[in-house]
Amino acid sequence: MVRLTHTLILALLFGLWSLHGQQALDRNACTPSAGTHENLNAVLWVSTSLEYRHAATQAFRLAALQLDRALVDPTWTAALEQSAGYETLPPAVVLDVDETVLDNSPAQVTSMMSPTGMFGEEDWDAWVRKAEAKAVPGAAEFLRLAAAKGVVILYVTNREAKHEADTIRNLQREGFPFADAQHVLVKGEVPGWGSDKSSRRRYVSSRYRIILLVGDDANDFQSGVRTGIEERTIAATPFDAWLGTKWIMLPNPTYGSWENALWGGGYPTSRAEALKARCAALR
Ligand SMILES: [Mg+2]
Repeated sequence: MVRLTHTLILALLFGLWSLHGQQALDRNACTPSAGTHENLNAVLWVSTSLEYRHAATQAFRLAALQLDRALVDPTWTAALEQSAGYETLPPAVVLDVDETVLDNSPAQVTSMMSPTGMFGEEDWDAWVRKAEAKAVPGAAEFLRLAAAKGVVILYVTNREAKHEADTIRNLQREGFPFADAQHVLVKGEVPGWGSDKSSRRRYVSSRYRIILLVGDDANDFQSGVRTGIEERTIAATPFDAWLGTKWIMLPNPTYGSWENALWGGGYPTSRAEALKARCAALR
């Protein structure tokens, strides 16, 4: 009896606490403090933390393990775009570039410090032209290992055609294999190669068996995920088993489709509008 009373009291207290928690979430109270940028902690995490280095290194070590499984299994494919007869095609790994193999956190700092506090095309242009992005930890080692095993590497990036030469120079500088115009597929290089990477995966999968997809954004793996929070979750759920086996995910808390999802898949016109959407999405 005493135990039952105790249980009832605990349940009541938990109920009151939960209610209090729900009432405490006042989205109107979610406002920026002067001089502090919403991206501050995320950029610091990528650029200074041992934890980011560990997470990235871990992702590429997992990729190396799965590479060996994929190579001995001709039915293994990581691409939803792969069509019949692929079993005899030569194996390839397809990777994204930004925040997957190259770390652009210095460019994020520039965006944060800019007068608008937002990403700007001119700043991005200047950063890419310098070709000074450092390799993501573990990326170059993994790709040299894959190349040594006879695997072809393709970089599918949403950088534009005007950035292709500087991107190749940057990849070469950081010691990446297959860093040439034939293996770096930029957005718009061929008519129909849009921001949704599906058309480029289809192109690659007609020539190669894609054994791994590596990226920092769900769009690096499948279509239909540059949408709202609920829609993208629904689109990805059937492929849960592909994560960590055929799809290798790098962490990127600084930007990406996850962030665009906060405003339904598009782009905000001002930092204030973006902040309002961020606050409204709090759970
Ligand atoms: Mg990326």
